[in-house]
Amino acid sequence: MASALPHFDAYINGESVGPSTGDYFPTVNPYTGKEWARVARCDGRDADRAVEAAWVAFTKGPWGTINPSQRGAIIHRFGDLIRDNAKELAEFEVRDNGKLINEMLAQCNYLPNWYWYYGGLADKIEGSVIPIDKPEVFNYTRHEPLGVVVCITPWNSPLLLLSFKLAAALAAGNTIVIKPSEFTSTSTLKLMELVARAGFPPGVINVVTGFGNEVGTALVEHPKVAKICFTGGTESGALVYQAAAKGLKGCTLELGGKSPNIVFDDARIDDAVKGAISGIFAATGQTCIAGSRLLVQDTIYDTFVDRLVTLAKSARMGDPMSPETQVGPVTTVPQYEKILRYIAVAKHEGAQCVLGGAPANGPECGESPWFVQPTIFTEVTNQMRIAQEEVFGPVLSIIRFKTEEEAIEIANDIVFGLAAGVWTESIRRAIKAANAIRAGTIWVNTYRAVSYMSPFGGYKKSGLGRENGIEGIREFLQTKSVWISTASDVPNPFVMR
Ligand code: NAD
Repeated sequence: MASALPHFDAYINGESVGPSTGDYFPTVNPYTGKEWARVARCDGRDADRAVEAAWVAFTKGPWGTINPSQRGAIIHRFGDLIRDNAKELAEFEVRDNGKLINEMLAQCNYLPNWYWYYGGLADKIEGSVIPIDKPEVFNYTRHEPLGVVVCITPWNSPLLLLSFKLAAALAAGNTIVIKPSEFTSTSTLKLMELVARAGFPPGVINVVTGFGNEVGTALVEHPKVAKICFTGGTESGALVYQAAAKGLKGCTLELGGKSPNIVFDDARIDDAVKGAISGIFAATGQTCIAGSRLLVQDTIYDTFVDRLVTLAKSARMGDPMSPETQVGPVTTVPQYEKILRYIAVAKHEGAQCVLGGAPANGPECGESPWFVQPTIFTEVTNQMRIAQEEVFGPVLSIIRFKTEEEAIEIANDIVFGLAAGVWTESIRRAIKAANAIRAGTIWVNTYRAVSYMSPFGGYKKSGLGRENGIEGIREFLQTKSVWISTASDVPNPFVMR
């Protein structure tokens, strides 16, 4: 008997379509621990249908021929519709990923800016006239779209991380196939209800749902796909990169992190304590930019740790749908198990657990089996696994340092380079640290700020390429050089011109 739960289909060529497999997989609410909907389990056949629809829309549909101002207006209207539906979209996200309604609502209210900003850029993609060194030649460049772009997203902030990609790729004139995380597909499918209303022709935006190794790989390997834009773990990112390389496709990768948050002894301590909390306990630590390595100067170490533990103890766990809640459940079972494994590893390595360090199951946790107490380890050294590997949960490692040089050395002694925080009242220290830390984003006296206007991406194993800002749109364009001879006769054909 078919399940009575809501069913979500894929979205291909402007229509909701069932999966070729006929199968649907469960999506679970992390706060209740119960399945609340079923999602289409797509495979390679659906990937092929979606890419074909996007390819036809790119090569034959009106998307390629409407003028860029009209294209921008459609993208802008999409932003307006997201603004009008932000609350509902946020509720879908919370039901799927268990993150706080406060956080998801703030994100969904902010999303329209990506579509307004890139909608505005759509008709400002200008080539140039080159004052070429050859006589009687007119040479100019055009920046053209790539074709079909695949956007693969993770479960932690599905619509925000999709918008980093989608708005810029559309503005550049590409057509899109989206593969959301198998844990959090419903908000992306809900978003598709707005696509036709905004005026996108069929096939410009498509969504296939399912598992990375089933439909994800089929998309990456598809010969008609020009580029893959991926956000997720470093290991899956490397697999996607390898598969893309076989087809010589472009790849933007936004991957994992283990970001240092450095507190110097001249910092405003209470501000830095709040910055440390927002770096690790916001979103239950499930963010790529988590400030999971807290580096504290030895002269303020004890005072700082005391104040931090006091504030962290006051964090209210509970129902993520309640605006009062500050720490929600972990999103997935594998993630919950991984966090507990890392807590055990840290204890075994000799780190000192000064807060939490166990599952949480008080009445505030409802029926969820997946709460972890906010956890703080002190006496961590940078060689420990708890300092080097991404936990992706509410687990903070505190490392002591003596000098500025030592802090920078520790900050850079890691394979990741996504972001870093620096807390100091000295402009000299701030600029020196910002220059020396090898990471794509540096925050000074703040943490976890992102904008559609400012480039975002990783150094080292945290990724390749940039999203957001004007740099973001260049990732979806290719440059053509056009040569026109104005000479009245053709010169010697055996010599390069
Ligand atoms: P994940 O790598 O398991 O999955 C991400 C997406 O890739 C999912 O849609 C998944 O189905 C798909 N996928 C997995 N393997 C694939 C393959 N071989 N081919 C094609 N698709 C494949 O990541 P996750 O667990 O969903 O997300 C958590 C990770 O994402 C963390 O490591 C986190 O740091 C990272 N992340 C990075 C950023 C960033 O901007 N740098 C932002 C958020 C999350």
